[in-house]
Amino acid sequence: MAKQRRDDRTRLILGLELAVVLPAAALVILSALHLMSVQRDRGVEAAIQRDFTQVLQVSEKQFNQRAYDLMDAVRADFPAPGQACAINLDRVLAAHSYVAHVFVYDPDAGLIVRSQPSSLKDAGFRDEAADFSHMMDNWMKMQYKETADEISGMQVQKRGAPYYFFHNSAPRGEKHLYESVALFLIKGDSGDAKGIGGIAFDADYLRQQFFPEMLDTVMSRNLTEGHTEKNPAVMMVRVRSEYTPLAAASGWDGGAPEMERNLEGAFPGLTLAIKLRGTTLAALGQRFVRINFLVLGGLTLLLAGGIVLTHRNVAREMALARLKSDFVSNVSHELRTPLSLIRLYAETLELGRLNSPEKYQEYYHIIRKESERLSALINNILDFSRIEAGGKEYDFRETDMRELVHATLDSYRYQIEQNGFVFEEKISENVPPLCVDREAVSRSLLNLVNNALKYSQQRKYIAVNLYRTNGSVKLEVIDHGIGVPSQEQEKIFEKFYRVGDPLVHNTKGSGLGLSLVRHIVHAHGGEVSVNSTPGEGSKFTISLPVSTGPGDGKTASRGDQELAG
Ligand code: ADP
Repeated sequence: MAKQRRDDRTRLILGLELAVVLPAAALVILSALHLMSVQRDRGVEAAIQRDFTQVLQVSEKQFNQRAYDLMDAVRADFPAPGQACAINLDRVLAAHSYVAHVFVYDPDAGLIVRSQPSSLKDAGFRDEAADFSHMMDNWMKMQYKETADEISGMQVQKRGAPYYFFHNSAPRGEKHLYESVALFLIKGDSGDAKGIGGIAFDADYLRQQFFPEMLDTVMSRNLTEGHTEKNPAVMMVRVRSEYTPLAAASGWDGGAPEMERNLEGAFPGLTLAIKLRGTTLAALGQRFVRINFLVLGGLTLLLAGGIVLTHRNVAREMALARLKSDFVSNVSHELRTPLSLIRLYAETLELGRLNSPEKYQEYYHIIRKESERLSALINNILDFSRIEAGGKEYDFRETDMRELVHATLDSYRYQIEQNGFVFEEKISENVPPLCVDREAVSRSLLNLVNNALKYSQQRKYIAVNLYRTNGSVKLEVIDHGIGVPSQEQEKIFEKFYRVGDPLVHNTKGSGLGLSLVRHIVHAHGGEVSVNSTPGEGSKFTISLPVSTGPGDGKTASRGDQELAG
């Protein structure tokens, strides 16, 4: 039997582990491993970096495209070969305010350079114009042929003519400003090179307008997805040799860029940079991993809690099932003993062979006592099942407690004394009448006295005290029996529960008595408690309130729930 139980339990625990614990643990371990690999390979960072590389690439293309468009517009207004003169070139400048200088170099006619007339008021710009003119003059004189060859060897863009871009730094007082200059071939009708034209972007225009606007545009075009609202990506451009931005998109918050790309095409010498606003990739990666570890930790805790809870519930159910099966065998045992005694004595009487009237009396008495024991047991079981079903009703009436206790004990006194017990009954004078269910209270008292009888060994002593104290009436049943270990003292009031002591096991019982007592007492608005030392004895105390009215629905249902639970 015990082995079978252990097997059940082992099977249950194994089942629980296989069904829940193993998959859950596997899931947790796999997730943790995955997270660790993400952390090790810097997976989050790598993903964003790949994204950034692409954004930088696409943005560069868009920058170039826009620059070519602007250049094409200027070139379209350029005078035809042989017609270049200051007035014509000034007209081109007037039509395109973003251009600082234009020039035409014709190997036969020489160089004409013109600078934006409206800006010439500024002394810095005048210096820049003079420098530019001087530089182009030198260059064209010395390198016209090579430059023209190089441009004609360049791949033709999708639209327009190829541009040869270079960057120039325009002096402005102490500072130098980045300026991008485009050279293109001026061709004759037959398609052969007649000269070189040049267009220089205005440095202030680039810095203050072109780049900020383009940065915002490329960002809104290329960074719509994939980045958190809280830490959007931001971009800037800088001159390759400097670290401060030449221009930045709105929202640039300084700090080191995460990725950079050296621009080619229209803006040589510039670097395009991108970063996350308000954080770094490394921090983001760490946060991702940390949050996921936290979530995983939380899930694991929840899971563990769930498993513990399930395990506890299953264990409780199993314990109850075990108690119930013990109960059945205990009860059948307890029913069988009085029945066989009754049968035995009745059969002996039937034979009529007894020789003294005292013997007859004794046998009748035994039969009566045994049937009383039987009824008490059956009553307990019936009461119990009524309470379990929630249908137990109490008949509360004003009752003289002194008389009730005395009468109940009287019917039992003979049996107590027969068993060799010293019996003391102390009923105080000042106990007031209470509103109680007579039968229920009497049954409670009998259960307690019966237990005192059952669980006493050599020291046969029972005392019952009834007295009033403060607001309650106390009914005590005291014995000098085996006692109840302190860790069991709460449990013995639970249904079916019996202490696992061999002394208890050898005594018949159903484990229902005390749970009934507790239910009855609760239904009366009272409490029952035990005070016991193993080996010395026990004192069970029922305490009933004097003032509270009985039949209080709340207390009755409280008792129901306890027993049912
Ligand atoms: P039963 O006596 O039928 O087993 P009860 O509900 O009346 O069931 O009691 C529950 C358990 O409490 C008993 O099995 C016993 O272990 C313990 N117990 C009850 N009364 C006493 C007592 N007076 N002395 C020692 N142990 C007791």
